[in-house]
Amino acid sequence: MSLLSLVVPCYNEKEALPLFMEEALKVTSTLSDIDTEVILVNDGSKDDTLDVMRELKEKYPCVRYISFSRNFGKEAAILAGLAASRGDWTAVMDADLQDPPSLLPEMLDAIRNEGYDCVGTRRSTRTGEPPIRSFFARCFYKLINRMSSTKLVDGARDFKLLSRPAVDALIALPEVNRFSKGLYEWIGFRSKWIEFRNVERVAGETKWSFWSLLKYSIEGIVSFTTSPLILSALLGLIFMFISLVTLITLMVRQLIYHNSVSGWTSMVCIILLLSGVQLFCLGIFGQYLAKMYTEIKKRPHYIISERSDGEKK
Ligand code: UDP
Ligand code: MG
Repeated sequence: MSLLSLVVPCYNEKEALPLFMEEALKVTSTLSDIDTEVILVNDGSKDDTLDVMRELKEKYPCVRYISFSRNFGKEAAILAGLAASRGDWTAVMDADLQDPPSLLPEMLDAIRNEGYDCVGTRRSTRTGEPPIRSFFARCFYKLINRMSSTKLVDGARDFKLLSRPAVDALIALPEVNRFSKGLYEWIGFRSKWIEFRNVERVAGETKWSFWSLLKYSIEGIVSFTTSPLILSALLGLIFMFISLVTLITLMVRQLIYHNSVSGWTSMVCIILLLSGVQLFCLGIFGQYLAKMYTEIKKRPHYIISERSDGEKK
């Protein structure tokens, strides 16, 4: 019998989790000749999510859970879930039912009968999202797709169904700074996209603030393209050229007119502009350096404090 694994990262999802389980198992029970296992990953929740997981494990034999020693972030939770999954296919889903389990049969069909390795979902609408957030999200996708050779799909959710080879490929990527939207694309494989209308979360609230999203976008850009470094080098070249031309013009003017006192306002402006550009470029270098620093330390992606099967990993 084939096995389907559902990986669910959870951070403060005590209200949503029981609803999710009910809904998800309702769908998977309709799948004939497929067993299901559900891997719940508690990403250091501050509420009673872990207790809810223990209860769910008692209630449903197909549930396994992993609990982190603190909040390591959704990416780490996804990785832990994928590493623990044993299924022939693995789906990554949010606990808040924003990733409708009702799409699973269609996704499974694409992998089993149409020869795909990866089925992704994308929202065709962004209803329920603040317009300013949608605007910045669109800008981000335009920007990163222009700069990076790994193309991201606008509106793509982390809700994915992956075949075993794709899961193994993802687990094998060792990087600490994981931007999974990009990693899914980077590993390649034949992918199919399924569109659905945006659904609002069933309970609890979103963990993303505007700043955390901004940080996440910068993380994405730095992880998947080095073109900002080229941009800063280009900026440097352009300004060098401009200053060379200005220097020659000023020297010639001084030799002819001998009036060197005037022009300090423009000088201040130029100094301000150039120091701004220099700081900007330094910031770009700093981002890459910071990423290298965290990678070089080779700390584990997460620390598990408890898991349902007892063993530590
Ligand atoms: N999540 C997590 N760790 C975090 C933040 C979020 O595991 O540090 C989980 C969260 O419990 C949910 C999923 O990631 O299952 C998506 O989070 P959320 O619904 O807040 O994001 P949104 O849908 O608003 O993008
Ligand atoms: Mg959500």
